[in-house]
Amino acid sequence: MEAVNTNDIHIKGLSAGTGIAIGEAVLIISDSKAVDPSFIKKKEVKKHKAQFSEAKETLLSELKLMSKELKDSGSAEIIDTQLQIIEDPDVQKNVFDIIENKLLSVDFALYQTFSLFIERLKESGSELFRQRIVDLEEIRDRYIALVSDQENIKSVKKGSIIIAREISPTELVSFYEDGAVGLVMEKGGVTSHAAIISKSLGLPCIVSANNATREVEKGDQVILDSAAGILISHPAKTTLKSYQERIEARAKGAVEKHDGVFATTDGCEFKLLANIEFEAELPKVVENDAKGVGLLRTESLLFGHRLRKSEEEQVAFYGKILSGTTGPVTIRLFDIGGDKSGIKVSKEANPFLGWRGIRLLLDEKELLRNQLRAIYKVSGEYQGRIKILVPMISVLDEVHKIKKEMEKIRQELISDGVEIDEKIPLGLMVEVPSVALSAYQFGREVDFFSIGTNDLTQYTMAVDRGNERICDLFQHYHPSVLKLIKLTVEGADKAGIEVSVCGELAGNKIGAACLLGFGIREFSMLPYSIPVIQELLNSRPLKDFQELAKKALELSTAKELEEYFKMWESGN
Ligand code: PEP
Ligand code: MG
Repeated sequence: MEAVNTNDIHIKGLSAGTGIAIGEAVLIISDSKAVDPSFIKKKEVKKHKAQFSEAKETLLSELKLMSKELKDSGSAEIIDTQLQIIEDPDVQKNVFDIIENKLLSVDFALYQTFSLFIERLKESGSELFRQRIVDLEEIRDRYIALVSDQENIKSVKKGSIIIAREISPTELVSFYEDGAVGLVMEKGGVTSHAAIISKSLGLPCIVSANNATREVEKGDQVILDSAAGILISHPAKTTLKSYQERIEARAKGAVEKHDGVFATTDGCEFKLLANIEFEAELPKVVENDAKGVGLLRTESLLFGHRLRKSEEEQVAFYGKILSGTTGPVTIRLFDIGGDKSGIKVSKEANPFLGWRGIRLLLDEKELLRNQLRAIYKVSGEYQGRIKILVPMISVLDEVHKIKKEMEKIRQELISDGVEIDEKIPLGLMVEVPSVALSAYQFGREVDFFSIGTNDLTQYTMAVDRGNERICDLFQHYHPSVLKLIKLTVEGADKAGIEVSVCGELAGNKIGAACLLGFGIREFSMLPYSIPVIQELLNSRPLKDFQELAKKALELSTAKELEEYFKMWESGN
């Protein structure tokens, strides 16, 4: 018998999902800090020039649309500068010259052209010119991503496993639609945006897999064991066989559903809803019996590699989500900023503490109003089903302002004779400790709360949720985070409003059990987590969960809670 596993090359990462995939490696290296020269044939010159022109058009349209929507602030100036750079005839001249005369690929031609300009600016010594370097770097990276996408995204084959430094959720969905079966990223933590989406799509995924793009070659057969957090390249025959058997066994014993019952053994009812962002996720919502969409993220409408969506396109998107589901759909207003933007709208030293979510929306009124108008327009056909959720609230003044904006749009549409739902409930994301600590005061102003435990953890533990170096500190059931959740529930009860949880904690067994004990009755999670959480919450009487939650608050560390939970679960 062949020796087991001796030839396998293991690349370790962090588990960001479940499942196993076997497939062909496709490398996506769009983080274009450096591009190696690659020669092309004379007959390919035309194609590479066309790719440049197409990317230029896309960039120009994206930026023009942005400058229209972001006209209220300083970001318009940045965008204008970027427009000027893109339209500069010297850029095109230089790129075409490198493609035609040196027979080098378009991505390298772009890289070299922009590097040359950047070097010249650096040498100039002028502070004003130096500031422009950032713009040039940003356009260079965006350009290269666009021309690479044109080559890579369209050509991902069925059965591919994507190995990337980092990709955007929109790119991921595009690969998924092509038939990709797994994702490996060198960057990012387990709650980074692409990791969340890959879980939602049911794609095996590992993140923080150092050097994966260097250790694996394009076309290699690889095994991705998501739960174990490993990628295996050049697997030995025995390894391959054993993984194939595991995949078959899983397929046989697939999705255990616990039909109909959503209550503890003593009859305390709870609701499990889905977090989604893309239409492609709808089949998973239905398959897993979600009772609605508890969080519809909308950022991908703005920052795809395709154009940002107009008001009418947004209406169509929301309509598809509503017609493809039953029950409530909670639409979250654009949560741009932090790690959630393809094109950075503004350079900040601390983006997670900066111009993000509601802060940006209140400055960029056109963006906000377009979205509100689109939501209200759809609501006429789906009376009573839509809720609006506001991200990144930290002070009451923001709540007053958003209410005013909503009222304004409501009145405009009514006087234009548009049929709308006039009573769309308004809710706040509780993700900044200032809201949790004053939950009653915030709760009096709105109809519901939705606790975003990903950001609440980030802002409580002072840990960047996307930074792989410190991801051990991202402890979303740390007693301090749980205390803030408890305070939020108490504040909401006093104010007489509903409170649900839509962060990753809701789909985590330890988290969900404690949350039920704190009084949470509505949980929104990645669709694939629903059966697991349903089974857990169905398995015991309410008092058991209450006891667990009480104990969790008395413990000192997340680790202690993990140990205690193990005992609790096994009934000791
Ligand atoms: C959260 O912060 O918990 C949340 C649900 O929102 P997002 O992950 O989109 O920031
Ligand atoms: Mg959040």
